[in-house]
Amino acid sequence: MLLCAASPAAARRRRASNGNNSIDLNNPANINSASYHSLYNGPGNGNGGDNSNAGGNGNGQANGLDGDPNIPRGLSGHARPGGGGGSGSNGITYWGGPVMTKAAVTAYIIWYGNNWPAGHPALTVIPDFLQILGASAWWRMSNTYYDGANANVLPAVNFGGSVTLATSKTTLSDADVFNLVASTITSGKHPADLNGVYFLLTSKDVAQGSVRSNFCGSYCGWHTHGSVAGVGNIKYSWVGDSERCPAACAAQALGPNGVQAYPAGTDGMISVIAHELTEAATDPQLNAWYDTRGYENADKCAWTFGTQYTASNAAGTYSYNMQLQSTAGGTRQYLVQRNWVNAAGGYCSMQ
Ligand SMILES: [Zn+2]
Repeated sequence: MLLCAASPAAARRRRASNGNNSIDLNNPANINSASYHSLYNGPGNGNGGDNSNAGGNGNGQANGLDGDPNIPRGLSGHARPGGGGGSGSNGITYWGGPVMTKAAVTAYIIWYGNNWPAGHPALTVIPDFLQILGASAWWRMSNTYYDGANANVLPAVNFGGSVTLATSKTTLSDADVFNLVASTITSGKHPADLNGVYFLLTSKDVAQGSVRSNFCGSYCGWHTHGSVAGVGNIKYSWVGDSERCPAACAAQALGPNGVQAYPAGTDGMISVIAHELTEAATDPQLNAWYDTRGYENADKCAWTFGTQYTASNAAGTYSYNMQLQSTAGGTRQYLVQRNWVNAAGGYCSMQ
């Protein structure tokens, strides 16, 4: 999760109602951006130095605030002291828990809610994104994370396909999310896959959370894990259609893949999905990679996009920072938040 705007030291993990699992949250833009800019970059964020640790003014400040000044390149990498939580020499620390290194992570989609009509761009663009993401420079940043055996997250992502669940209610508790995800496995809709991350994607009519902590008000997505009888510990994520609250959970009013009727939500979701997927891979049980404030890799760069470009589609003008092949041929543009590279002192980047 990202921190709350008012208090950067606020605890970022809350207990889920479905047991003793904590959940990692991706907070709304209007919370994150305020806190991010004031905490890390200050005015002048977005200097375009997103691939240069030395040149990125935000990176130096971030590391300083972390209490982890940059160290020479030769001292980073996999070297770390034995025992304890590691040194965090790249501004993020390995705390000893499992990392998804056994195989390429497989992302599964579960559609839920009453507002996924045919023609909604999410239905085609999100599967397309997940099929191609593993080949991207963006995903390769996840490859800088490793487990206690020095095995790295693989620079690949599999797409496990999409299923649709009947919508029984439009306000989901955390326990509801777990139960819906688990039902796709126990019913055989999706395979039981301990190398998988199951994404429950809810349409804009669906609320999630509680009065105190909820979609649009305090977060845009989250990931966690839970035990399914006879299967084991599964990793899963919930992400809601940002069209429900584009000012909070989408980076712009029209995304690269937006259409007139659904301008912002699909791209808002894609940025959150990418964030949650890399966090699930590097911190699947919330006890592997995060910094001393509790930020996971993507949290450290949330709602920052580096160098952006402008383009137009039939619905208007938008910004993008990534262009990937489409499985349908040609390319697609995306605006995806940056991620934290666990090397060279640590820095936010798109690659
Ligand atoms: Zn997060």
